[in-house]
This record gives sequence, C-alpha cells and structure tokens, in this order.
Amino acid sequence: MRPFIYERPTDVSAAVAIASRFTTEDDQPTRANAQFIAGGTNLADYMKLGVAAPNRLLDLNRLEEPGLRQIRVTDDGVRFGALVRMGEAADHGEVKRRYPVIADSLRLAASGQIRNMASLAGNVLQRTRCEYFREPSWACNKRVPGSGCAAMEGFNRQHAVLGASDACIATYHGDFAQALIALDAVIRAEGSRGAREIPFARLHRLPRDTPHIETDLAADEIITAIEVPALPWARRSRYLKIRDRESYAFALASAAVALDLDGDSVREARIALGGLATVPWRAGEAEAALQGKKLDEASAGAAADAAFAGAEPRQHNAFKIELGKRTLVRALLETRDMKV
Ligand code: SF4
Repeated sequence: MRPFIYERPTDVSAAVAIASRFTTEDDQPTRANAQFIAGGTNLADYMKLGVAAPNRLLDLNRLEEPGLRQIRVTDDGVRFGALVRMGEAADHGEVKRRYPVIADSLRLAASGQIRNMASLAGNVLQRTRCEYFREPSWACNKRVPGSGCAAMEGFNRQHAVLGASDACIATYHGDFAQALIALDAVIRAEGSRGAREIPFARLHRLPRDTPHIETDLAADEIITAIEVPALPWARRSRYLKIRDRESYAFALASAAVALDLDGDSVREARIALGGLATVPWRAGEAEAALQGKKLDEASAGAAADAAFAGAEPRQHNAFKIELGKRTLVRALLETRDMKV
C-alpha cells in the first residue's frame, strides 16, 4: 500500500474544503488525490490491492452534524443520515415495517461484521468486484481508461447482461441501491458548489465509453443523506437475492419489488434488478407491462420478458437472463402474497 496523508475533518464544510483543494474536476475514484472514507469496507480493500491509491484520505467519522447519524421516519418518508451503518438501518423497527424492501436489501447485503461497519452512503458508492478490475496486472478500462477490458474475452460469468458497453461489462454489486431506485429515493449532497438534491436514478452512470466515471458526484461532493418518500407501494415490498451460496456472496440475480394493488390488480409496480446490470437497474418496461393487469404467473412472466428484452449475454453469463426472469417472477408473486 502506498503512503497517504490521513485527515479527520469535523464538519462537512471543512471536509469539502480540503477535498476541493486536492482534487480536480475530472478526478474519479481510482485516481483522485483525495478520497473520503467512512466504514472503509470497500476502499481499504482496494487500497491494499493497489487498485485505489489516494494521496490523502479524509475520514468522515468525526463529522459533528448529528443528522449524519440519524434515521428519521415520518408519515412523509424516511431520511437516512449518510453515516448511518447498514446494520442500524436493517434493524430499525419502523424501516422494517414501512419499507421492508430496504431492510431486506441491507440484511442480505453482507455479513454482520460488514453491516456494522459500512455506512449507507459508502454502500451505494461501492465499486465493482469484477475480478479483472481487482487485479492491477489485467487490462481494465475502469481502472486505467483506454487500457482495454480483460473481461470481454475472459471468464465473465458474474458480469452484466443489462447496461453494458463495448468498454465495460462489470456488474454493479450492491443491494441497497436496488431498493432505493425502486422507491424513487433522493440523495442529498454537499460540495464546493453548494448543496443539491440528486434523484437516486441519476446517481450512477452507465459505463458507455467512460466506465471510470461511475457517478454524477464531483470529487469534492459528500452525500449527506438519503431520503425515501412514503408512497403507497412501500409497505408491500420485498427484496429477493439469488446467489451461489446463501451467505457472504454477491447476487447473481436479485429483484426489488414494490406493489400498489387494487385487489389482484396492479395499480402501480416498482421494480429494480440487481446482479445483472452495470448500474442499479430500474425495470421500467416490466412496470409498464404490469400496470392495470391482474398479477399472476402469466402477467409476471410477461413483465419479466419485457425486463430482459434488451439483455446482451456474453460467453459465460447467458444463464443470467433466465435466472433473472425467474427471480423477478418469484419476487412479484411473493410480494403480491405479503400480508400488509
Ligand atoms: Fe474493467 Fe469493466 Fe472490463 Fe471489468 S468489465 S475488466 S471493470 S473494464
């Protein structure tokens, strides 16, 4: 690991001021001179592997603003401070009752040790676990822009079938993000240009020909909160995660589903897919296919077909299309049958 300067600012504006002094506008996570760290469960790994090598680490755990560590649930929605740990949110009684898809996604995301350490904001910004990205001797456009992509012709069983480009096919591996995008969440962020609100659906960028640019955040911007509105589908919601083994594994396929039902019929459906795409993936075609329909195996199957109509398999991951469809059908039917 390369030597680095370690600083512990005590408020958000001080952290932003330091970051803006040591980063430039086009700095991206792999190359930025200064980087923020909270739980460190992803960044510390990548620093040890030589994938990330910031000159300066800004530890956010001393920030004094109390809202950064609070979960506030009201009839209008839930607000998570950015430094809330995954485990706190997953175990919060009102979150479990009013937003089961959020609690499920966090509980299934990682081991208890990681959940106790990782912050919610850090979790949504986690970087891919593409094996070729993690090993600096392989060509990787995300790690070194323009160097190529070893996964294209390599072992790509874990890679994405949705949202890929000729430059990168890495999967976004988070779980919480799927719940957030399905529930129309919003991010609050602060940077040297002031505070702003970002719809969660616009936070992550498709890889296109710049896979090293992963989010819409500037290098000196800090997420301060994540807000989720209390819309009618939030209580009837769940997260289904399919993986190679039942614990400590990333999703091969997952589905976050939220439903507003009128009897057996769908007033509104909210659907996101995980483990299958390069970014948190809102399945708008599947939602549209269900609107006004009776939700049964046939309509759920038609929605799943719509969700994967544009899927592009690679040599080793074609199985993910059928797996993704079955995951979505099961998640839809189980969500329909929830007692709320
Ligand atoms: Fe790098 Fe993306 Fe290719 Fe993986 S899939 S090697 S992250 S460019």
